[in-house]
Amino acid sequence: MDDERIVNEKQTIGIVGAGICGLCTALALQAENREITVFERDGAPPAGDADQAFFEWQRRGAAQFRHPHAFLALMCNILKDNYPDLIEEFWQAGARKVSFQDMLSPEMTANYQPEPGDEKLWLLMCRRATIETVLRRYVERQPGIEIINNVTVTGLLASAVDGCIVAGGLKLKISNDASEVRHDLVVDASGRNTRFPGWFEELGARIEVEDDDAEIVYFTRHYKLLPGVAEPGRGEDRSAGDLGYIKYGVFPGEGGHFAVILCLPNAEQALREAVKSEAQFDEICRSIPGLLPWVGAGVAEATTSSFGFGDIHAVWRHFVRDGRPHALNYFAVGDAAVRTNPLYGRGCSTGIKHAHILAEVLDAVDDPVSRAVEFDQRTEDEIRPIFKASLGEDKNGIKRAAAIREGQALDRPDSLRKWLRLSLGDAISAAARDQLHVVRGAMRTFNLLEPPGEFLSDWRIRLTILRYMFRGRGVNARSRMQRGPGRTEMLELISASTPQ
Ligand SMILES: Cc1cc2nc3c(=O)[nH]c(=O)nc-3n(C[C@H](O)[C@H](O)[C@H](O)COP(=O)(O)OP(=O)(O)OC[C@H]3O[C@@H](n4cnc5c(N)ncnc54)[C@H](O)[C@@H]3O)c2cc1C
Repeated sequence: MDDERIVNEKQTIGIVGAGICGLCTALALQAENREITVFERDGAPPAGDADQAFFEWQRRGAAQFRHPHAFLALMCNILKDNYPDLIEEFWQAGARKVSFQDMLSPEMTANYQPEPGDEKLWLLMCRRATIETVLRRYVERQPGIEIINNVTVTGLLASAVDGCIVAGGLKLKISNDASEVRHDLVVDASGRNTRFPGWFEELGARIEVEDDDAEIVYFTRHYKLLPGVAEPGRGEDRSAGDLGYIKYGVFPGEGGHFAVILCLPNAEQALREAVKSEAQFDEICRSIPGLLPWVGAGVAEATTSSFGFGDIHAVWRHFVRDGRPHALNYFAVGDAAVRTNPLYGRGCSTGIKHAHILAEVLDAVDDPVSRAVEFDQRTEDEIRPIFKASLGEDKNGIKRAAAIREGQALDRPDSLRKWLRLSLGDAISAAARDQLHVVRGAMRTFNLLEPPGEFLSDWRIRLTILRYMFRGRGVNARSRMQRGPGRTEMLELISASTPQ
């Protein structure tokens, strides 16, 4: 009788957070023998379409909610391969597909010949509010998954054995009432401000954290094309690029909505102040040729003010030390475990990948200690290379921005090894502007379809990059930059329009 009860009993899993990774973890773990509950501190999305979700949904728990998101091919392919009906629902909500061919410049498009693998290189284009609402409604309909809104997880039910925490459930607060719920497994998908490491510390376990400041700030403003105005096509000046002291980009959404981001080094104090002003945000955008077709007079109207996101760090939390897990029956996914600079648009893709790694480990391994160790090892093997590459890009970006503030065209490395690395980076960026086979390889890396830099093992790409290296760093580094005002000119522009 007892044996029969054990066989029939379902495993209960509590997921903290119904953000993109929490929802995708629920989907990845869904199984007949599992009962999954997702606890979310914010309310449900409002009834209605994408506009209502974007303008009305209170998402205090995910501060990045109204910043534009790129949904890279890694995420798109995982979702398409596992939940093709979900992708159909994204199209119905107005999301658009950007294929590899759509990403090419007009000259490259003219000579484009499809190659095997190109079909995997595609992006989803829409506001994050749209993705999150459609995903949330899809998950709500799944058997064996329940989402409970307006409930804050306030602690972990756990015991500590020899310094190792054994998770057994969650402490909850609903309105002003406290309660507890027991779970066999707890998944932390509560995002960048996860409180679990603090709770672990109270229980005697210290989670080591790698934490590197990207030293940038990210500003966004949303717009809508005026009636009768068509979306600008791909022109000579790109709608996303780098002027050295500022990075910019247009994120087209659905129904004529789009967002513009301006990303600045923390040290650019005057510009950081200027972008807080709606008028100066627009003025800066209009001075950049790649943005002008979107924000020039008579094209679009703003639908929000300009708003920022600072304190951008690359973060890696270690839940296993020297092969010993700090906690059993507890797993952190998405931003709660690993965070990279949003400028690269990788967080949702790596988070969803992480959720699927967790599902594979839970399916394959039963012993709690082995599970924790295996999950940690797979995270290291599959996500660490992306984290490391992002961190390297952050460090180069900090040096490049400092050189430009000091009036130098190039940052000056202090060793031959660093010089070679920078030369290689500049040659890749330059070749990826005008050589189709290099663009394809770089796009595979950018979209996380292969480990960072794997495309460089292709001999044809290597030869092209070598040829570009012979052109010299100066030429290649310049071609990384787009056309637009230099830093001094931009500072003069904003100084002239700053109210005294
Ligand atoms: C400015 C900016 C731009 C970005 N752009 C991109 C991009 O272009 N592409 C991309 O892929 N990624 C981007 N990212 C990263 C991406 O937003 C994150 O990687 C992703 O949202 C992480 O998902 P998550 O589910 O782990 O966390 P979140 O999306 O942060 O979700 C966490 C959820 O947990 C809930 N929660 C938190 N604490 C509790 C609690 N105690 N009890 C109950 N619920 C709780 C929150 O309310 C929230 O819903 C960007 C990030 C920023 C900051």
